[in-house]
Amino acid sequence: MTSLVTRPVDLEWRHAAHNYKPLPVTLARGEGSWLFDVDGHRYLDMLCAYSAMNFGHRHPALIAAAHEQLDKLTLTSRAFSNDALGPYCAALTELCGKEAAVLMNTGAEAVETALKIARRWGYERKGIAANAATIIVFDGNFHGRTTTIVGFSSDEESREGFGPFTPGFRRVPYGDLAAVQRAMDDTVAAVLVEPIQGEAGVLIPPAGFMRGLRDMCAAYNVLLLADEVQSGFGRTGALFACDHDDVVPDVYILGKALGGGIMPLSACVANWDVMDVLTPGSHGSTFGGNPLACAVGTAVIDLVRDGVLFARAAALEPMLRDALVALQGYGVDAVRTRGLWAGVDLSAEVGTARAMAEDLLTRGLLSKDTHGQTLRLSPPLTISDDDLRWGLDRVVESVHALQT
Ligand SMILES: *Cc1c(COP(=O)(O)O)cnc(C)c1O
Repeated sequence: MTSLVTRPVDLEWRHAAHNYKPLPVTLARGEGSWLFDVDGHRYLDMLCAYSAMNFGHRHPALIAAAHEQLDKLTLTSRAFSNDALGPYCAALTELCGKEAAVLMNTGAEAVETALKIARRWGYERKGIAANAATIIVFDGNFHGRTTTIVGFSSDEESREGFGPFTPGFRRVPYGDLAAVQRAMDDTVAAVLVEPIQGEAGVLIPPAGFMRGLRDMCAAYNVLLLADEVQSGFGRTGALFACDHDDVVPDVYILGKALGGGIMPLSACVANWDVMDVLTPGSHGSTFGGNPLACAVGTAVIDLVRDGVLFARAAALEPMLRDALVALQGYGVDAVRTRGLWAGVDLSAEVGTARAMAEDLLTRGLLSKDTHGQTLRLSPPLTISDDDLRWGLDRVVESVHALQT
């Protein structure tokens, strides 16, 4: 029993900035699909750190790779070569079917990197007039928290008080190809898109949208930048969400699951005709490409290379979808799933998604609300059938309980 004054949660409230409003649970340990709080209560993790934990907590192969690298070398900076970076980039680019990768740490940094690559490509390769490059983005986007990125967000809460913002972005409705077409002109260097909008509530664009974007970008000589930070690496039952539409973007923007939930690791992956706009001194990161992250990243690729884990996520989707769809009309207005990823729009009579996440917490399940009425579920790809069924039973229970 810890004394009240030194409870970690109290110290957090007193000394950690209040930029989040966590559910009332203090976690202390994780194992596979389960998390344990400071009092030893267990919870099924159906958020997985927004998909950063796609392979579950403390996956043995990833932990072993981290331990092994910890005993050798952790950070060199890119002032020197290290023996983990090359092999990792080779494995990552092979998996992605591209030629080159630039490594960063967080998703937001990878997005920033893609924007810089696109602008430079626009000036050097497309011939856009100096400082005139435009990038098309979408309503409801979430690409991270830097000033440039929140500058083109449509979410007032994330912009308020942080201006002035970086110019050069044009925002159009998500899923609206005609609007993209209208926004196209000679200044456009790139389109930045989430193939599925995760933070917006797991919004899946209309069929044909991603294909149409791909074709339009090719026709206008514009780069397609796919932000797969959350949707990539198996979440949707395929390596990439783009795969469902047979779309290959010019630049994959990756993060979250890339580092196996152990190291922050993000990347832009592209062919050399795009990547070679980055020249020595033009871009970088002290921790980007560090040996520890590369070793864990390589173990992640070893884990997913055969596609078995993605196929499993796809195979479990019907269980997830059927349980949630059965609630439609009974406390749930709409359900969207792709792979092991679900957005559940709750009816007003059930209350807010935050209230439901709090209720689910008391039932031993961790989830997250977004935009008032939407509950997001993203269990580990490694979850057992029994655990998933158990979790879905708790969701059904909660919706029924909150209605009465
Ligand atoms: C989480 C996320 C980001 C930002 O990643 P951070 O590591 O939090 O900076 C960017 N794009 C998408 C689609 C995300 O879900």
